[in-house]
Amino acid sequence: MLGHALVAQLRNNPDHQVILVQQDRLDWYSFKQVTALMTQYAPSTLVCLLGKSGGIALNQAAPADLMLDNLLIVLNVMRACQRVNIQKAVFLGSSCMYPSHTLQPMHERLLFSGYLEPTSQSYAVAKLALLQLCEAFNQQYGTHFICAIPSSMYGPHDDFDQKSAHVVGALINKFHHAQVNQVSQVTVWGSGLPSRELIYVDDVARAIIRCLAKDVSAKNNPINVGYGGDISIKALAEMIAKTVGFSGQMLWDRSQSDGVSQKRLDNSQLTSLGWSAQISVEQGLELTYQWYLYASAEAHDQISV
Ligand code: GDP
Repeated sequence: MLGHALVAQLRNNPDHQVILVQQDRLDWYSFKQVTALMTQYAPSTLVCLLGKSGGIALNQAAPADLMLDNLLIVLNVMRACQRVNIQKAVFLGSSCMYPSHTLQPMHERLLFSGYLEPTSQSYAVAKLALLQLCEAFNQQYGTHFICAIPSSMYGPHDDFDQKSAHVVGALINKFHHAQVNQVSQVTVWGSGLPSRELIYVDDVARAIIRCLAKDVSAKNNPINVGYGGDISIKALAEMIAKTVGFSGQMLWDRSQSDGVSQKRLDNSQLTSLGWSAQISVEQGLELTYQWYLYASAEAHDQISV
């Protein structure tokens, strides 16, 4: 999802010449292949968006896969950066790296200050290892590796699969199918009381590009990428239902985990660099649903052919 948005913005930007490497292009668990690729292209700067991730269900169903995948990839990519002497790189963190009970909005200095949320602990530890590697490289080799930590991202090319999606993708899919099939009730997970800070993918892409500029250096690591406000899951579910045109009843399944009650990021470091979110949650949900409809129609046409 973020790769699509980032490449679209970078291609319109004359300051950057982009070499795009798709996730399925090589075996990222092979240090030999990763180093060969980096040596071939010798980029001056790297943005690494690799690694499996998912919503609350996938984090609980596949913690080992998520942790191994993210660790193996980042170890190989970091070692390859060292081999080819890349000085500037941006990696992607996650707001689940923060302690589950901490001051909100969460300032970068609160990382490593308490216990993690159990539903995403394994994935979060892999992301904390990524952050620590950035710090270690910056300290030992004088690099400018930045771990950008977005809040709950959503948008076109999101995952809409119930088993692995985050809340926005999952609920767009559920409400859409209920609406199309004239089902009057939809089950939503948890109590609806937790809140999440949603951020539209294009805003995150602009933040990553801001981090690529020369004045963003090791001293800025890590950096939060937060929208600047959060919303309860109940209010979000109502907004998504309205966007999709579902007017039936929501049933709250309290046997499903709520996850952490709140995770809102302090975005003051990023805003002091001149960045601010441009897409409201209402606009972002509309844009995401329009893309979802377009992508579903395309998939349907291909099946019909
Ligand atoms: P989290 O931010 O890591 O907890 O991941 P999610 O985006 O998957 O979940 C956010 C919140 O939305 C949690 O409180 C979930 O219980 C709630 N939620 C409600 N309905 C759904 C759903 O259908 N799918 C998902 N993934 N989350 C849901």
